[in-house]
Amino acid sequence: MKRSFKRLERVLELEKNQGFQNKAVVGGIRQFATYWVDKAREEAIDETDRALVEQVAEVLNEYARMPGHDARAKAVQSILDGLTRREERLADQLPPPPPPKSPPPPPKPAAPPKLAAQREAAPPKETISKTEKATPQPSDDLPTTPVPVYELPAEQNVAGLQQPVTAVKGVGPKLAQRLTVFDIETIDDLLQLYPRRYDDYSLMKPINRLQYGEQVTIIGTIWETRARRTRNNQVIVHSIISDGTGKIQATWFNQPWLTQNLPAGMQIVLSGKVDQYLGRPVFNSPEWEPLELEPLRTRRIVPVYPLTKGLKSYKMRDVMQTAVSEWAEHVPDALPEAIRRRQALYSHPQAVQQIHFPDTQESLHRARRRLAFDELFLLQLGMQARRQEWHSQPGIPLNVGPDQLAPFYNSLPFSLTGAQQRVIDEIRHDMSQAEPMNRLLQGDVGAGKTIVAAAAMFVATKANSQAALMAPTEILAEQHYQGLQQLLEPLGVSTCLLTGSTSAADKRQVYEQLASGEIDVAIGTHALIQEGVIFANLTLAVIDEQHRFGVDQRGALRLKGAASANGDPNPHLLVMSATPIPRTLALSLYGDLDLSILDEMPPGRQEIKTYWLKSSERERAYQFVRRQVQEGRQAYMIYPLVEESDKIDAKAAVEEYERLQGIFPDLMLGLIHGRLKAGEKEAAMRAFKARETDILVATSVIEVGVDVPNSTLIIIEGADRFGLAQLHQFRGRVGRGQHQSYCLLIADGGSADAEERMRALEQTNDGFALAEKDLSLRGPGQFFGRQQSGLPELRMASLLDMAMVELAREEAVALFNEDPYLQQPEHAPLRQRVEQFWADAGDVS
Ligand code: ADP
Ligand code: MG
Repeated sequence: MKRSFKRLERVLELEKNQGFQNKAVVGGIRQFATYWVDKAREEAIDETDRALVEQVAEVLNEYARMPGHDARAKAVQSILDGLTRREERLADQLPPPPPPKSPPPPPKPAAPPKLAAQREAAPPKETISKTEKATPQPSDDLPTTPVPVYELPAEQNVAGLQQPVTAVKGVGPKLAQRLTVFDIETIDDLLQLYPRRYDDYSLMKPINRLQYGEQVTIIGTIWETRARRTRNNQVIVHSIISDGTGKIQATWFNQPWLTQNLPAGMQIVLSGKVDQYLGRPVFNSPEWEPLELEPLRTRRIVPVYPLTKGLKSYKMRDVMQTAVSEWAEHVPDALPEAIRRRQALYSHPQAVQQIHFPDTQESLHRARRRLAFDELFLLQLGMQARRQEWHSQPGIPLNVGPDQLAPFYNSLPFSLTGAQQRVIDEIRHDMSQAEPMNRLLQGDVGAGKTIVAAAAMFVATKANSQAALMAPTEILAEQHYQGLQQLLEPLGVSTCLLTGSTSAADKRQVYEQLASGEIDVAIGTHALIQEGVIFANLTLAVIDEQHRFGVDQRGALRLKGAASANGDPNPHLLVMSATPIPRTLALSLYGDLDLSILDEMPPGRQEIKTYWLKSSERERAYQFVRRQVQEGRQAYMIYPLVEESDKIDAKAAVEEYERLQGIFPDLMLGLIHGRLKAGEKEAAMRAFKARETDILVATSVIEVGVDVPNSTLIIIEGADRFGLAQLHQFRGRVGRGQHQSYCLLIADGGSADAEERMRALEQTNDGFALAEKDLSLRGPGQFFGRQQSGLPELRMASLLDMAMVELAREEAVALFNEDPYLQQPEHAPLRQRVEQFWADAGDVS
């Protein structure tokens, strides 16, 4: 008894009855899907079932985000239909299904997927366009047939795909020129211009059954066509069409030639949205085609392409139709067949064909699935290659035993958390290896990453070599320097600070001491990767808040490293990030790195209480500040980014600082913003740390890393203007000691998103939960910034589709283990695609 399928059916029926409000199950459909998919995978009895499960999961995952009633209704219906077909199939299939390789006879007259059918029936040279296009019924061909097996054509016309678009019939130089707007030069490029959306005209109806508002296709005979000129000189063409069940009027504007093209007696197909005029159904500007032509604009799911000036939609469709029918079948399929089968994926030609001219919603869905899988798979293969490359380089093994760390541990004012201890062990182990460490350390704000970095640096110095730590802001570098100096110098480790505002004289001295090896540990900003900086023997590079650096900068620090056995600089690398991202996502973004997670907070930390106040409640906030200060605590007051400009920020902060001095005449206020000189910033931070000031008025310069455990209150003005991650980072400035801490967000509401961000902050302190929320609000592109992530662009796939990411990753790892670097001849096309795909992405490390 396959209960999960039944259960799904019941849930969806309920959802339908409740009007698609995503309330049929507590927690929403998406949550149900997470639970459901595991069960259903277990219960799936064959490949077709498994494919169905994955498709359903994808749809359910998107469900909450579908815009409104209709989209959801459609999604639910398509799944219910799928389930019905499944039952029919199972009923048909006792005795058990034949092995997947030999397709069973089609259970119905409905067409099996085109390419598969064509391979069976026609000689290999037959093109897609010649296959008969059955009247599209939102029909049964999928997934009742097993995954079609598509063999590559014997003589692949791969080179042909690289021809200029002008080789496609109907594309002249002028059109080719227009297509360059989309970066289209070759036929291959053209095939990759996917539709922006689709109009589904696959629903065919007799005229007497038409309903207002539906998108539909009718077939009929023209009774008459007439043109009329309006007062402001517009031409309106009316046709009356009848199909035996009824008559309907169709109207077009300013296309006078239609009076000739649509003569009485002609058999015509019309597709469009049913409108009403004086209570009767009519079509306004419907798509039309003579009945005897192959459906391109009507009777099917019609692709809608992005358009550019001078390129009409019908022209684009015509061109695409020609290109697809002549060339889709020549698109090489680089994906190994075993994987295609296992994941129940369309062949590449089939996916290309169906993404442009889908036969059904389901085949469209499967085409998307295949193309999305490809992207994620190529992404992961690239990651694997980098990983392998990294690991195959000689590193600099540092043999430092655990006991050598004892003085370090003993000098700490606290004992390490289990997670810190574990990660330090992982790092020490990595550093003792003959290949370079390449590790990402993730931990929520305040998890205690700095001390882990300190331990790693101590290891480097114990092996008589140097370490460097690079931080994104001067304030943070300065703070790290103070802390590390205090911790490490008593242990005999010499440290230095190097930032943009280090004086020329100091710089010269530091340069000398780094080059001679006199200094063991360098802490600084981008100043560390300046040309003049040379290390005597740098074996460990640490990058704090790595997301604030570009890929080049990360790479540049690595290049300062000591030469390994092959002469290249290959220092051990530790990158740290407080942007906690879900593990799967971390793996897909940083699949080439090893991952350590600090998933345990130092003891005694309390939940930071967060409240969102309106500006009318600001007085209360000020009273609260006063009370905290009376209790001996300190507070931050953050002023918003008025614009992305230091100057304006600074002004806002300075003005507020002056105003606040009037409000708190008895308290000591400090001020810090991006336009202060380094020395001034330093002084302000020092004063705050030393409790000489009670309140620190600041701009976002203190966003990352700043650590003053005695401050227990942070007030963020204009909180609606900050992003979720940033707000969480600000909040992380408090709650660092044993006192109860507070975060007050002041904003009079903003966009719906902004409100959602502030509510999310009120509700949880959990950085992982917030990151997930942030991701879903912004999408991964904005969340990470493409440039910083160094990833190729994804057009079809979503990194948020965890199930798909995981699948692609598993397959990539397996394939790479079997054939590292894809050296086997049969993987050559795949290797080429990986290289192409990654060509414009930077180096993540
Ligand atoms: P982050 O992970 O955000 O970089 P930090 O390294 O700045 O966090 O640490 C936050 C605060 O917690 C610091 O004041 C640090 O000294 C303290 N801390 C770190 N580890 C521990 C621990 N095991 N026990 C108590 N306090 C700790
Ligand atoms: Mg930190």
